Amino acid sequence: MNSQEIISKADRYYLHTYNRFPIVLDHGEGVYLYDKDGKEYLDFGSGIAVCGLGYSNERLKNAMKAQIDKLTHTSNLFYHEPGANAAEKLCKAAGMDRVFFTNSGAEAVEGALKLAKKYANKNGKQRFHNIIAMDNSFHGRTLGSVSVTGHEEYRTPFAPMIPKVIFADYNDLESVKEIMNEETACVILETIQGEGGIYPASPDFIKGIRELCDKYDALMICDEIQCGMGRTGEMFAFQHYGIKPDIVCTAKALGCGVPVGAFLCTEKAASMVTGDHGSTYGGNPFVCAAINEVMDIFEEDRILEHVKEVGNYLWEQLEDLEAVCHAISYHRGIGLIQGIQFIPQVSASAVVKACMREGLILIGACNNTVRFVPPLVISKADVDKAVGILKKAIESVS
Ligand SMILES: *Cc1c(COP(=O)(O)O)cnc(C)c1O
Repeated sequence: MNSQEIISKADRYYLHTYNRFPIVLDHGEGVYLYDKDGKEYLDFGSGIAVCGLGYSNERLKNAMKAQIDKLTHTSNLFYHEPGANAAEKLCKAAGMDRVFFTNSGAEAVEGALKLAKKYANKNGKQRFHNIIAMDNSFHGRTLGSVSVTGHEEYRTPFAPMIPKVIFADYNDLESVKEIMNEETACVILETIQGEGGIYPASPDFIKGIRELCDKYDALMICDEIQCGMGRTGEMFAFQHYGIKPDIVCTAKALGCGVPVGAFLCTEKAASMVTGDHGSTYGGNPFVCAAINEVMDIFEEDRILEHVKEVGNYLWEQLEDLEAVCHAISYHRGIGLIQGIQFIPQVSASAVVKACMREGLILIGACNNTVRFVPPLVISKADVDKAVGILKKAIESVS
């Protein structure tokens, strides 16, 4: 089939919930993607912050192939070695005690919310406790996760949501204080808001939330699905702040391309018992083999150090660009999760399209922002190339 035939067939049968680019991707190598017609793209999107190790990583591929030859699935009625190892590695990396594997980010958020509700019910809070979430947040598309997502347009079509979710303003501690009380079960926030436009939490905000949660015996949930797994230069973004949440959600880059997520918690928050939660596929041998190899590669290839170095380089290049480019109004982020916001007269999505034509994949975010979430293995030369294309693209649409 040629590209047009593939697009027509997909459009005929898919439920139309996405605006796709008219590009049919065929294969990937390193930090490059290739479409069906052989056009090459430098990828600064990583399949939405998923492919941390880029494409076609030999070690990861071999680990996955070896597991396919042995056993891909067991259900959670049995034990398996890849699962035990992945659980230990992930708990240690996050400084948590317990993990539950899911198949996606939204499911990790669902599990985290259930865990917090169970904890509240067990610890004498009224059954109608509240949940505090943030404006401009994104936590996924299932009913529970969309209930705590701070964008009305995502929630309204599916009302009513789960009850007693109250929204505060991100990075405004007073707005949390005003609504928090003994009946608060948990506060959920992204350590860095991703879809919202790459807004890192301020240190005062995140420390203040930790203190409020301690004061009211509420659980603090950090959604690290986009900003975690090394993207900021630490394994998890909360580790920059010197605090520890009670529950951490991860997914996206956890399996670097295999569908897997997890929520982790401290012993104190581990309120669920046999029968409280489950997942047929969750953490099967195949995805856990991928997690193990990803974690090993991170350590052996010193990915975190690399992210710090190349992330700083990207920061400097985008600062230089912002200084000479009037179309850019803000530059935010850390490590390899950065964003530039454009003035209202310049559309971020027009910039993304112009970059795409020139062979650079970037993805948009809310608030007229373009996101930089490349594979963590990009080089400084890749950054130079991307910023060069971006600069021309901005000129062409301004
Ligand atoms: C992508 C994302 C999710 C949802 O993950 P899915 O795997 O798409 O369900 C949740 N929270 C954050 C912060 C995300 O970026």
